[in-house]
Amino acid sequence: MKNGLYIVATPIGNLSDISPRAVETLKAADVIACEDSRVTKKLFSLLGISLQKTFIVLHDHNENEQAQKIIDLIQSGKSVAQVSDAGSPLISDPGYKLIKSCREAGVYITTLPGCCALISALQLSGLPTNRFMFVGFIPNKDKGRADLFKKYQKLDSTLIFYETAPRIVKTLTAAAEIFGTREMAVAREISKVYEECLSGTAEELLAHFNTNEPKGEMVFMVAPAEEETLPEIDVETLLKEKLAAASLKTAVKELVETYGLNKNEVYELALKVKNGQK
Ligand code: SAM
Repeated sequence: MKNGLYIVATPIGNLSDISPRAVETLKAADVIACEDSRVTKKLFSLLGISLQKTFIVLHDHNENEQAQKIIDLIQSGKSVAQVSDAGSPLISDPGYKLIKSCREAGVYITTLPGCCALISALQLSGLPTNRFMFVGFIPNKDKGRADLFKKYQKLDSTLIFYETAPRIVKTLTAAAEIFGTREMAVAREISKVYEECLSGTAEELLAHFNTNEPKGEMVFMVAPAEEETLPEIDVETLLKEKLAAASLKTAVKELVETYGLNKNEVYELALKVKNGQK
């Protein structure tokens, strides 16, 4: 296998979700960069992949030092496969600094696509998929959580957060306050036996979790903010008022700039108003 860095997605629940190409790559790689070697070795055993390899542990806090070690290995001819405990590396998982350093060093990098919890959750949610914002993990402190929600409150995109079962009730309580009655969804245990995706308002989801203890890995999603409807403007009346005090050119310019209107359309209407055709 060509020396370089191979970003390899691993399953988020169902072992069979790993691609044959990913398995071949993990088998062939000389070095495995992982988050927790115990978790990765367990996965390798289940997949029948030899453990006779070098395992390098990569955390957010040691990524810079480890990146140099990995680049040196690649430059000495080794192939390095990067995995996280589950799912796609780099997505709320370590790896970004490593990739940045590898790019700067000019080594070969490729990615083997696969499971990513946020994408599967969005697919299940029934929420709009045309535009979405992945926000990552939600802070555990009340203020941090509320500030994060407020920051994205008006965004016209489905919001996607990673969450854990013990925190979901606090998250839904804050979401009720900030997002009100907007549609939300909680996708849990994706690709596992108890996979489910619940949807409703925050109040409805809270009622569910009051009677069903929250369990498992979760993705929390919120429907996009409704587009704020601009107040209807009566361009003709505004033009008449403006033309009483300003030239046609100035009246058109002011209206176009103030209301973001189409210049040609306003100009044509202004001519008609001025000529008494309106
Ligand atoms: N990089 C991984 C990915 O994108 O698939 C995610 C890693 S992040 C440390 C772990 C979080 O992903 C969990 O707390 C949960 O929010 C979400 N997650 C992972 N597996 C999941 C699953 N099977 N069902 C629902 N959410 C999951």
